[in-house]
Amino acid sequence: MDSFGRKVDYLRISITDRCNERCLYCMPEGYKGWERMQDHLSADEIVRVVRVAAGLGFRKFRLTGGEPLVRHDIFEIAGGIKKISGVGVIGLSTNGLRLAALAKPLREAGVTAVNVSLDALDPGIYKRVTGGNVEAVLAGIRAAIEAGFERVKLNCVLMRGVNEREIWPLALFAAEHELPLRLIELMPLTRTDVLTEEKFLPAGEAMQLLAQRDELVPQPNTKIGHGPAKYYLLKQTGALVGFIGALTNLHFCEACNKVRLTADGHLRPCLGHHGEHDLKPGLRPAVDKAVLHARFAQALAEKPTEHVFRNNWQPQRIMTAIGG
Ligand code: SAM
Repeated sequence: MDSFGRKVDYLRISITDRCNERCLYCMPEGYKGWERMQDHLSADEIVRVVRVAAGLGFRKFRLTGGEPLVRHDIFEIAGGIKKISGVGVIGLSTNGLRLAALAKPLREAGVTAVNVSLDALDPGIYKRVTGGNVEAVLAGIRAAIEAGFERVKLNCVLMRGVNEREIWPLALFAAEHELPLRLIELMPLTRTDVLTEEKFLPAGEAMQLLAQRDELVPQPNTKIGHGPAKYYLLKQTGALVGFIGALTNLHFCEACNKVRLTADGHLRPCLGHHGEHDLKPGLRPAVDKAVLHARFAQALAEKPTEHVFRNNWQPQRIMTAIGG
């Protein structure tokens, strides 16, 4: 429990800050602020941190980045985590580019749930937002469905003037494949000109756009996975759409259940606060469990009541290093 009585049992792990896409809102073209490779945790170190976290009561783990599938030892990491007693869920967040080839072995290695980023279906818009090829991602989504994960979800970051006309096609796609679609408000996590007031599309407006086409039926008891989305069912199409109003929902942090592990081994209690606790002194040169326990306890004790994105927030680290 944190000091506000929230049960915190979810660790999101950025296993790399490298990525094979260049999303406008995340890691823009020309970005050079990489963490040093020697600061990245090894597969063995990540598994050790998870073992400590599981011993403290953490049950859900998510491998993210950067793009976790650019790391060649991803199977070693997932397989090592799977063996730890107490681990309930091993999620993976991916842009899907490499998923067509990797979905099946990832499932076999122990990954239970996959979130795929899909900001547009239109190949030109997708390329403009991410720099990538949407056909590869769609093949990845099909492979993930076939691989039999317990859950596959789609994530779309909302941007006015960029992808709002993709929201309806994405909802139809989600209905057709029976996958939940989550629409995420743009968060101020990178230094780039896309994070302007004009580009910000509130979740409420996305809801209105969908409501022009179909009736939205609230699903107050629907909880899919462990994220903060509020779900609605589109009555005619059958699409299940979750809204993540990180900025406009003033209750957003009330049920926060997570802590993040950055690519360079820092525990970060909140995405929208700068505070971090370096775990590396508890891992290098030798494992010191007392240090690891103390840093986890500190991170929980200092987990703030809410993010301060609305308070003239200036990011110091971009999303990819922190772990989205
Ligand atoms: N590469 C993986 C992926 O594409 O899912 C994992 C890392 S990515 C940082 C995780 C999620 O964070 C993605 O769904 C991405 O769209 C989201 N994200 C990144 N920057 C964001 C921002 N500024 N605002 C809102 N969501 C963001």
